Amino acid sequence: MIEGESAELSKRKKLSNLIREVTHFVPYYKQFLESTDTYDDPVQALARLPITEKALLHNHAEQFYSERIDKSRREDLLIAEVTTGSSGLPIMCYKTKEERFQLALSAWKQRRAIDARVNQSNLFCLLHSHSSQKKVVDNMRNLHSQNISKVLHYLRDEFKPLIIHCSPSDIFEYAKFIEREHFSLEDWELGFIETNSEVLTLEQKQKISQRFRTRVINNYGCREAWNIAYECREGNLHLSDEVHVEIIDMKTGDLIQPGSSDYGEVVITALPIKHFPFIRYRLGDIGRLSRLECACGLENEVLELYEARKINLIHRLTNDNTLTNGVSLFKGVFSDLVASGYSDVVQNIIRYKIIQTSTDVFDVYLMLHEALTERLTESFTHYATLRIGEGAVFNFLQKSADDPVFEGKNYSFLSRIQG
Ligand SMILES: [Zn+2]
Repeated sequence: MIEGESAELSKRKKLSNLIREVTHFVPYYKQFLESTDTYDDPVQALARLPITEKALLHNHAEQFYSERIDKSRREDLLIAEVTTGSSGLPIMCYKTKEERFQLALSAWKQRRAIDARVNQSNLFCLLHSHSSQKKVVDNMRNLHSQNISKVLHYLRDEFKPLIIHCSPSDIFEYAKFIEREHFSLEDWELGFIETNSEVLTLEQKQKISQRFRTRVINNYGCREAWNIAYECREGNLHLSDEVHVEIIDMKTGDLIQPGSSDYGEVVITALPIKHFPFIRYRLGDIGRLSRLECACGLENEVLELYEARKINLIHRLTNDNTLTNGVSLFKGVFSDLVASGYSDVVQNIIRYKIIQTSTDVFDVYLMLHEALTERLTESFTHYATLRIGEGAVFNFLQKSADDPVFEGKNYSFLSRIQG
């Protein structure tokens, strides 16, 4: 960025460069060269390009590599990362060293704005096991109490990190462990906890912050584009200088302007990534943009995320139910059961996962202490129907702890219906 140039102007230039680059060198985008070239405004030119998603890039990967890099040299010049995200569909993403450097620089700048002392040696990453950390714990994401205890002892007594980088659902389990086991942090003082890779809920944020005696900062991002928005000292998610974000109406596909109170689907364009680009790429998250004057001094637009991802929404016949969050709806069903004298039913459940497979069908996977009873299936069906509406069918399936259905991100509700 040239000194004195506004962040917005600099971003528009980056967007303009990206559109020019991909419409000349990326096969999939070449067909749009003329329609984007006639626009002086890069935001308007971008709107002429199609919205993309994981499945498209997965099935037509070859169309998305830039011709700037010869096929035979891709392995040398592009660094591959794999992402599955909440949809479970794995895709490979590729970046050059320079693209990664640009993205990393932006992330470190944002971290230093929160705590100037942060550097690579005092940050502990609970997401990806680095070789040096493997000596201590074999699997960072093993959330068994024994493993959590081992990791916490190591962090408190030896590493003493200033920053922990982790997923909200993982660190939430650590916070619950500290609470349950009365684990003392002693003199270990964290600068902040940086969460990413999933939507951070208010409940998670409060408990993590309380138990670790520190701030929880949400680094909202994905493997494809790295950081998208970073939380400031005031608790607002400011957009990264390296990502252009659009909010799309989920029913009409129209753009929702910043400042609107309506939520829509978050669609991102990663500005520095030109060799395997992510343009108007949908993540499945729901949010809205505002241009509020934040007390932290940053002028970048603020993104407000809806707590659920698209995959966590219940899809039922009526349109006004489109934004019903299944995770909280089913939590409500369990509260109803407890309030109505069915505590024994709830206490029998170790874990549950509910998957909507069609408009009216919900598979309820249960990990139980004892056998599945009629009392459980009947009371659950009764209270769930009260909340969801008549006509819903629940299939109950008792599963063991190592069943694949409980692997991956720990959402308690998923819908397999997309769109
Ligand atoms: Zn701010």
